[in-house]
Amino acid sequence: MVGLASSYHLAKKGAKTLLLQAGDFGGGTSAANAGRAQVSEGYLDPVNIQAVREGVARMDNLAGELDSDFEWQRSGYLCLIKTQPLWDEWTRRSQILSHNGIPTEVIDVDTLTRLEPFLNTEGLIGAAYTREGLLNPFKFCWAYRQAASRQGATLLAHSPVTGLEVQDGRITAVETRTQRYAASVVAVMCGAWTPQVTRLAGVDVPIRHTHAEAMILEPLPPWLLRNTIGLADFYELIHGRQQAVAIGLGPHPNGGILVTEAVAQTDELHQRNSVWGITGIARELVKLYPTLGKARVLRAWGSPTPFTPDGNPLIGWAPGLENLFLAASFMQTISVVPVVSEWIADMILGKALSIDLGLFSPARFVPFRP
Ligand SMILES: Cc1cc2nc3c(=O)[nH]c(=O)nc-3n(C[C@H](O)[C@H](O)[C@H](O)COP(=O)(O)OP(=O)(O)OC[C@H]3O[C@@H](n4cnc5c(N)ncnc54)[C@H](O)[C@@H]3O)c2cc1C
Repeated sequence: MVGLASSYHLAKKGAKTLLLQAGDFGGGTSAANAGRAQVSEGYLDPVNIQAVREGVARMDNLAGELDSDFEWQRSGYLCLIKTQPLWDEWTRRSQILSHNGIPTEVIDVDTLTRLEPFLNTEGLIGAAYTREGLLNPFKFCWAYRQAASRQGATLLAHSPVTGLEVQDGRITAVETRTQRYAASVVAVMCGAWTPQVTRLAGVDVPIRHTHAEAMILEPLPPWLLRNTIGLADFYELIHGRQQAVAIGLGPHPNGGILVTEAVAQTDELHQRNSVWGITGIARELVKLYPTLGKARVLRAWGSPTPFTPDGNPLIGWAPGLENLFLAASFMQTISVVPVVSEWIADMILGKALSIDLGLFSPARFVPFRP
């Protein structure tokens, strides 16, 4: 979704744009996500907050701008809290978010039960509540893909980049198995696969990944689950563990229930499921929502999730090569894509930004270590 949205803005601003996609459009980690436009779980610095706030605000008119519906809707998010330190942390977080235009509040178990009557609240002391958004990620990618094409971009699926030609400190051409494309600027927006691609130009980017699995249940009555549910201790649960389940669930626009996430550490980049992952998700789901014990699973999938050493994305020019631009490893990706993709296009075209994105500069990790 980052590459497709950036291609749309580049073409719209008049740049001759070619997108080379290894597989299907939107088929990377973008095909794996739960469609949430998250607003409350990211970093609290002004840049990240602004990107989320402006990105989500732009969603309301984006389907019109792209001339394609992607099932955008506002939705409630409940972040379940089990301990006093997490309650204190989310109280502070709620104040900062609310103060910055993202209304968030902490609520007690009685209120939580009124909002979600079928949730098992055993072991919970409350939740943080905020309004976020939901969309269909396949249609979101497709909307950008179609709009980019209408703006004159050339988009080629099943065209993996196999080589980057470097001469005198700049990339002069991009190669696929059958073609060579001369280029003045090369932007790598390959999510978890970014290091594989930049290595073709001898650049080791500090992006690693975990592998996450998810599944979708059959369509069920909407009163069973009204809000998206997540855990305040998500990162504590998965941090440093070889395998862990941090449960999250939410209503999909088509009535199904999306259930995430079994996380595993692995060096391999793949999109498979595992027996432990799917059974682990199912076990945690039934603990939290016993009523869903008999619901049928329609489909399950897995995908790598990229991350950098400090958790912030890499957006900007790669040190060491003159014309290699990087945009990868986003947090709250869906929320920020509508605005950050336009900022990316402006940076590539050398236009001044109204915001300082130095926080995301790849140069902060120099020298790059893989
Ligand atoms: C289970 C799960 C649930 C998630 N839920 C959410 C959510 O609700 N909300 C949210 O905001 N985020 C969510 N995420 C994260 C989100 O999906 C990602 O952050 C986002 O999709 C990354 O988009 P991207 O465009 O940067 O990368 P990708 O979608 O991974 O795109 C990178 C593309 O690069 C291509 N590529 C790789 N190698 C090459 C090559 N050699 N040549 C050409 N192309 C190449 C790949 O085919 C791929 O399509 C979730 C992730 C997972 C795993």
